[in-house]
Amino acid sequence: MKRLLHLIIYLALAITVQAQSWKAGTVLSDSELKDLKIEQFFVEEEVSEDVFARMSGKSFPSSCTTKRASLRYLKLLHRNKEGKTQRGEMVCNKAIATDLIDIFKQLYASNYRIERMVLPDEYDAVDEKVMTANNTSCFNFRFVSGTRRVSKHGLGMAVDINPLYNPCYNTRNGKCEPKAGKDYATSRSTKKAALPLIDKQDLCYKLFIQHSFRWGGAWRTKKDYQHFEK
Ligand SMILES: [Zn+2]
Repeated sequence: MKRLLHLIIYLALAITVQAQSWKAGTVLSDSELKDLKIEQFFVEEEVSEDVFARMSGKSFPSSCTTKRASLRYLKLLHRNKEGKTQRGEMVCNKAIATDLIDIFKQLYASNYRIERMVLPDEYDAVDEKVMTANNTSCFNFRFVSGTRRVSKHGLGMAVDINPLYNPCYNTRNGKCEPKAGKDYATSRSTKKAALPLIDKQDLCYKLFIQHSFRWGGAWRTKKDYQHFEK
């Protein structure tokens, strides 16, 4: 009986420590890296009460028509600007959770640079802020402007990668989202050497295409370089 009690206390403590030590946007310390258990990362979970509370009224507004049960919370790792291993998180549709886990695992293993990967709710789910912060994300509920059609991000079926470096650029009127990304919209090939700019030779592009996503950078007028959707 006493042994059982000890076990219960131990498990409760272990769960608490794990919950506390996991925070997206933070870098893993050397000791954490040394005994890194990869199975703790690259996993999908249902959207917990804690995560849902962060999303409510932001990426998941009261008008949201996408069901919470159709979404998944992903715990991922990525290489930040300095090449350090950083905790990432993402909410996506459960239909693409396995694809994304596979893609981000391969990007991490290949040292592909992704600068930030936290929920857009950290930026009040305001797209311009999310993109200016170069934050990679997926689910953010919205209708296609002027319609009642839910956008691919609103379904959790589209991902934006390093959106400052890979802005959405309208070649007809020069409008760039985010505004701060305009420099990266033009003369992309010369900037490619130093930065993870997505083109058809890029690993990120190749992996998403292998998983049957479409790339916004291939669109004719509006070049949405950051965007992959299914
Ligand atoms: Zn997008």
